[in-house]
Amino acid sequence: MRIAIIGTGYVGLVVGTCFAENGNRITCVDLDEDKINGLKNGIIPIYEPGLKELISRNVDEGRLTFTTDPAAAVKDALVCFIAVGTPPHEDGSADLKYVLAVARDIATNMDGYRVVVNKSTVPVGTNRLVRETMAEFTDHPFDVVSNPEFLKEGAAIDDFMKPDRVVIGADSEKASEIMQELYAPFVRSGKPILCMDPLSAEMTKYAANSMLATRISFMNEIAALCEAVGADVNQVRKGIGTDARIGFPFLFAGAGYGGSCFPKDVRALMKTAEKNDLQMQIIEAVESVNNQQKSRMIQKISQHFDGDLAGKHFTMWGLAFKPNTDDMREAPSIIIAEKLLEQGATVTAFDPEAIPESKRILGDKISYAHDALAALDNADGLILITEWNEFRHVDPSEIKNHLRQPVVFDCRNIWNPATIRAAGLTYYGIGV
Ligand code: NAD
Repeated sequence: MRIAIIGTGYVGLVVGTCFAENGNRITCVDLDEDKINGLKNGIIPIYEPGLKELISRNVDEGRLTFTTDPAAAVKDALVCFIAVGTPPHEDGSADLKYVLAVARDIATNMDGYRVVVNKSTVPVGTNRLVRETMAEFTDHPFDVVSNPEFLKEGAAIDDFMKPDRVVIGADSEKASEIMQELYAPFVRSGKPILCMDPLSAEMTKYAANSMLATRISFMNEIAALCEAVGADVNQVRKGIGTDARIGFPFLFAGAGYGGSCFPKDVRALMKTAEKNDLQMQIIEAVESVNNQQKSRMIQKISQHFDGDLAGKHFTMWGLAFKPNTDDMREAPSIIIAEKLLEQGATVTAFDPEAIPESKRILGDKISYAHDALAALDNADGLILITEWNEFRHVDPSEIKNHLRQPVVFDCRNIWNPATIRAAGLTYYGIGV
């Protein structure tokens, strides 16, 4: 099948590459000329395990091309995916200007029937809005399908190639069949393609992200209570995760959820409720707990130093909002760094992949090291923020030898407190 993917970010690039890998002919479009020129020259704009090799193979075999010209891509494609950002407005509602601009681009460039697929996370009702927008610019026939994406950054290729389910929201039988044909190779293992109406498909994405965010905030609230009563949240997690009704995923206490999806999608869902004269009390609490959580480790750091962080120097291990990605959108590291700086401290950070992204966001407000242990030199404490695997097995006595003051703040509970303490370091975790 010939497919245009418009918006070549984390989602568009992965989706386009994976469709190409299954034998389709894909043109990825983006407004960002540097990004497209880079991709044409083999420079991958994001860090995602396995993506570079997959892009290179599909480009070499002629199934994957890149352009800034939507007209060229839409001309030949039966299916046109919209995969642009849906960032929040100031009030938390989703900004649809990029989605609707692409809808216009497709409409003005198509010369016959097209299936237009919304991959971006969009509020309930956007399918209709895209349809109305396109109808203003074309007389050609088309269908609009809502096909939310559930991939996780850091495991995006596996998630897309082997989805738990594919959700297709379509009013048209013809479009639904084309979509089912496109996705058939991805569900050979028997996972379902769920066909539903577009409104339910759009709602499914927000409900999924809000449920996952709820589990995280719930565990962070339990962690705070564990600290107050002397229980250990790691033990409690095992105790409840083994219950088949609960399960283990998304039960880790930590520095709060971040990233490009959960914070914005939770807020956008509340906005949708508000527009429909409803209040989502659980979701409001989820967000409020998460906002507090990002500051809780700062309070512990401040207490450890008797409220005086002026002149102190800290090392942060991890900048990305989670491991195996360079994405720092809404990452707890940004808030922790800014709060330390506000209180007169200085920061050196190390992250295996996200330093270029951090330089873009935090500039030279903090300094960077290109080696985890070297980053610790002259620091008054180590703050572990992202649980990259390479941090899990560092010898704690090495950490102690490099630090000026032997204290570790473990925002992800990746270390055994007893092992860290045995090496002569003071240990702070979350809920332990
Ligand atoms: P992103 O910011 O990484 O990429 C968006 C891309 O679209 C950018 O490269 C931008 O230059 C391009 N763009 C904007 N307007 C354009 C236009 N008119 N024509 C062509 N290109 C244009 O965003 P993302 O993380 O890939 O997310 C895209 C959507 O998918 C969002 O709605 C997001 O909520 C959703 N989503 C993201 C993830 C994730 O893990 N990142 C997972 C599931 C769903």
